[in-house]
Amino acid sequence: MKSLLHYIKTAVITTVVITTNNAIASDNHHAHVHGSAELTLATENNKLFINLTTPADNLLGFEHRAETSIEIANVKQLEKKLSNINNLIIFPESTCLLIDTHLNLDLLLPLKNNQHHHKHSEKKHTEVVVEYTLTCEKRVDIAPATIQLFKHYPAIDTIEALWLTDKKQGAITLTPNKNTLSWR
Ligand SMILES: [Zn+2]
Repeated sequence: MKSLLHYIKTAVITTVVITTNNAIASDNHHAHVHGSAELTLATENNKLFINLTTPADNLLGFEHRAETSIEIANVKQLEKKLSNINNLIIFPESTCLLIDTHLNLDLLLPLKNNQHHHKHSEKKHTEVVVEYTLTCEKRVDIAPATIQLFKHYPAIDTIEALWLTDKKQGAITLTPNKNTLSWR
């Protein structure tokens, strides 16, 4: 099932391609680039939708199903860490409340006994996708945003961010030295 945010994200990318004729953006949606993450933020009234898509390697250092107890613990730790949106992004001038999180790391956990293991169908690369829904005090107060991901996951050196409000939209490449996003 494709979420509302998926359509918003697709719309943003399509519009960016049309308005800037930026060839890089056209493939952005399906890119799996180690070291890079995709972040999409969309506001709707006082709601804020955030999608993070990144190769698992950036967050865990591996993309296969966890095998050792250490790897399993690392996946559980990642789940816990990503459940706290403050580890991803903070809004220093706003009060936003996380009301919903979609995060499924099953592809990184060992198969259960009753699941068949199809070696050939295992993907070589694994993407982590997290979706957050927040409500903020005032829509206008959501920006700016400070990205915390670089601090917590040093393997990420680039974040391709897309943002969309009812008035404006844009795309920006963020790095550890340029980690603030503003759409005012
Ligand atoms: Zn990969």
